[in-house]
Amino acid sequence: MPELPELEALRIRLAPRLEGKLITAATVNPKKGHMLRYPVEHFAHELPARRIVSLTRRGKHLVFGTELGAGGSERWMVINPMLGGRFQIADGSTPVPATEVFTIRAEGKQEMRYLDFRDMGRIYWVTDLGSEVPGWSQLGPEADSVTAMGLEAFRKRLRRFRDELKDLLRNQEFLAGIGNAYSDEILFEARLLPLRRRSSLKPADEEALFAAIPAVLARAVEAILANPNYDESKQDRSFMAVHMKGGKTCPRCGHRISQLGSNREPLNFCRGCQL
Ligand SMILES: [Zn+2]
Repeated sequence: MPELPELEALRIRLAPRLEGKLITAATVNPKKGHMLRYPVEHFAHELPARRIVSLTRRGKHLVFGTELGAGGSERWMVINPMLGGRFQIADGSTPVPATEVFTIRAEGKQEMRYLDFRDMGRIYWVTDLGSEVPGWSQLGPEADSVTAMGLEAFRKRLRRFRDELKDLLRNQEFLAGIGNAYSDEILFEARLLPLRRRSSLKPADEEALFAAIPAVLARAVEAILANPNYDESKQDRSFMAVHMKGGKTCPRCGHRISQLGSNREPLNFCRGCQL
């Protein structure tokens, strides 16, 4: 499931190729049209002739701002890829995968395809983000903004929640953008066990968490951008320390990495060096 780093890296790569570009065509795979939270015929008809004026990210959503005519009629396409959503940038000659949900063609023969192999992604085409995208107005601050927030504000925010740390980090009302994979990585970095309660944190633990969140996210964005063969549609996460590494050796202490939960949505941590 793409989380903040994958979507941020994607945004960094896509923005210069799409911002300012006119959409020339939009097509929807008839087998997947049910995934659009807006009638397919409108979606496919309303996108062409619009200009993509901005490409931003909010939590685990990618947000395409569009305008019809200069300064006129703003509309947003919002994509939350959930478990199986991926993006593919291609020119028209690359074969279209069977998992394609829709394709947007822009000036310069650029195609952006949204693929989904679980059919769980959420796609919205709206005029007002806050009232039309479920959960939007409850989203907390961006997870990569905690440094700017400052340690004291972070402590205060933390104390409003009672969850176990793993759930806390995945709670989009606490911070937006972190899911199952990066919560494992952040807790490993902070040396905190995932099932600990927030209330058990000492001031030094809070500080460790405060430092670990932006550090892990920034490193991941860098790792993704540094990989010249990175394929958005495959989502390589081999740079991770513990997530999906159950049974392997901890890179920090040599202990065996633990796993709870299913193989698809595992919770990984090290009992040797996380307390
Ligand atoms: Zn360890």
